[in-house]
Amino acid sequence: MEDSRKKPIMIGVIVVCLIVAGLITFARRGGGGSGIDSISDDKMTWVKCSNPKCKAEYEMSEKQYFKEMEKRFNPMARTSPPLTCEKCGKDSLFRAVKCPYCGIVFIRDSVPNDLFDRCPECGKSETEEIRKKRLAGEQ
Ligand SMILES: [Zn+2]
Ligand SMILES: [Zn+2]
Repeated sequence: MEDSRKKPIMIGVIVVCLIVAGLITFARRGGGGSGIDSISDDKMTWVKCSNPKCKAEYEMSEKQYFKEMEKRFNPMARTSPPLTCEKCGKDSLFRAVKCPYCGIVFIRDSVPNDLFDRCPECGKSETEEIRKKRLAGEQ
């Protein structure tokens, strides 16, 4: 007698649990903040101003970068929106890479249809160099 009454309750509890779990997953995805918050505060990223009169290049907190990016994100645009340059105040700041080989700072994807970190100055790409090393079995 008692067992047959408990069963529907158990099923009800399981269903509620599944709905709650689903909602939590959905809320996390929808919020999008958890990924950014997991970036450590002292992680830095290079940025470069594309304004020819300014050309400022400096490091900023990666977390800050992604927070600004999230605010400006336009789902219709296929490219990352520029941020406001702290030197000239124009919206022409892009994420950049410091070349570990020649030391210049350049905007990511400077070389079209190539690796994002291909250096326009010396032509090397860190990603490519790492791949080459792996292929050579050096680690
Ligand atoms: Zn600038
Ligand atoms: Zn270089």
